[in-house]
Amino acid sequence: MRYISTRGKAPALGFEDVLLTGLATDGGLYVPESLPHFSLEEIRSWRGLSYSELAFKVMYPFVEDAVPADDFRSMLDDTYQVFAHDAVAPLVQLDTNEWVMELFRGPTLAFKDFALQLLGRLLDYVLEKRNQHVVIMGATSGDTGSAAIEGCRKCKHVDIFILHPHERVSEVQRRQMTTVTGDNIHNIAIRGNFDDCQRMVKASFGDQSFLGGKTQLAAVNSINWARIMAQIVYYFHASLALGGPDRSMAFSVPTGNFGDIFAGYLARQMGLPISQLVIATNRNDILHRFLSGNRYEQHQLEHTISPSMDIMVSSNFERLLFDLLGRNGDEVRSLLEEAQSGPVSIEDYRWKHMRKLFDSAAIDDDTTCAMIREIFEHNEYLLDPHTAIGVKAARLCRRDKAVPMITLGTAHPAKFPDAVARSGVVSQPSLPKHLSDLFEREERFTVLDHDLKTVQQFMAEHWKHA
Ligand SMILES: *Cc1c(COP(=O)(O)O)cnc(C)c1O
Repeated sequence: MRYISTRGKAPALGFEDVLLTGLATDGGLYVPESLPHFSLEEIRSWRGLSYSELAFKVMYPFVEDAVPADDFRSMLDDTYQVFAHDAVAPLVQLDTNEWVMELFRGPTLAFKDFALQLLGRLLDYVLEKRNQHVVIMGATSGDTGSAAIEGCRKCKHVDIFILHPHERVSEVQRRQMTTVTGDNIHNIAIRGNFDDCQRMVKASFGDQSFLGGKTQLAAVNSINWARIMAQIVYYFHASLALGGPDRSMAFSVPTGNFGDIFAGYLARQMGLPISQLVIATNRNDILHRFLSGNRYEQHQLEHTISPSMDIMVSSNFERLLFDLLGRNGDEVRSLLEEAQSGPVSIEDYRWKHMRKLFDSAAIDDDTTCAMIREIFEHNEYLLDPHTAIGVKAARLCRRDKAVPMITLGTAHPAKFPDAVARSGVVSQPSLPKHLSDLFEREERFTVLDHDLKTVQQFMAEHWKHA
């Protein structure tokens, strides 16, 4: 499998290099040159497979040039064993044909563990083989950081620097990052917001000279293709559990950087019958506004009770744009450059095509709280604020009640106790056993200004072999 850049000017790469690269040299993101396609018959034959066996079927075409089948199988067994539920991604029923897929049973209680537990193992496997070292640099609005640190803490060939916006992530989220000790783990709190962090990461990938040529950067944000790849699997998993592929499914996806829902789009392209994909956003609703009115326009970032979705510009949307614009990298580049300075739109027929692929809704904080309360009262089930946005959007956008609607449960409610309290639910969610002493553990992090040179200097001085 070859991977190509969404901006058309970087060399095509194989899986190993895509895994280690992050952003392409032309500023684009890597996507597969073509996707594998599975027939209904083939998908049907996967019924009854364990999560890791299914993961092998779905992902192997993407990695086969880099990892022998048996090695990949054992890597997957290892990866999905760390999840605290035997079903790995259990489904919980809310109502007739209405479900939540719990993707928060991994070590850090958010869906990002699905990809990052695998990514850490893939990285170390490939780096060991190549006798190479990398520095991971990532920005987090909360959950990526802890999942990345947890996924890479045991990697022998990796240093990891995670930037989070100072005092803008929940205390649980911060402690999940800053209490993991190890000399290859470096937490940096930036005096700024998430987009400031993300911009510094992008700039550093663009010019890595601050590392003096002695190592290279690798990405754990969802610009890394391997993350998207791992997220395709659970769409198949949910469908097979509920009668697919012989009936089609609808999914509602709490969306920030557009990675998780893009994986759903890919699952459909690969042959899984999906009749509806709902983009669920909070007040940071650029995608919802674009889908509603063909006007792609950046607004000020808003801080909400669903911080993992407080994102002004969704990086992975570029991957969809690439397809929408007929896989023309020049068009993607000029559109996104133009979008830096003002609103842009795409040709009407392309926009109408996108509206066939996705529905969307933007949900404000009060409505999110009301949803948490309603589900708790009706179902005695506690939603985290991100998942609550998904459930609300699912209810608003649903087209056919005979089609199972599955909301991706992206985080455990115990990560967001303030939002739960604000919604008026009295029962406070408790942390699972492996995190019960989180508030007693010692923290380690460095606060730095929102300044690229300062951050790069810190990194150059602190990576292992510096
Ligand atoms: C990261 C995250 C999201 C957003 O996912 P994207 O792939 O960035 O769209 C939603 N909810 C939670 C809890 C998250 O951690």
